[in-house]
Amino acid sequence: MTSEKILLIDRNKCIRCFGCVAVCPVQALEYSKEGPKWIENRCTRCKICSNFCPVKAIRWA
Ligand code: SF4
Ligand code: SF4
Repeated sequence: MTSEKILLIDRNKCIRCFGCVAVCPVQALEYSKEGPKWIENRCTRCKICSNFCPVKAIRWA
């Protein structure tokens, strides 16, 4: 089920542009120096972030 999906960020692909943090409408991605951090209980699974990511570093599992 979509609502149970987990967002995974591939740290090797991520270029730390933090665009995903900027586009998330509900602040479910936060800045950290290691890269974006997902706040699962805020996420609506709208997929705006994964569609946005220029290097396709965000996937769902
Ligand atoms: S948009 Fe993609 S590349 Fe940019 S910080 Fe987010 S996961 Fe990393
Ligand atoms: S799927 Fe939507 S709500 Fe969840 S982190 Fe990405 S942009 Fe934010």
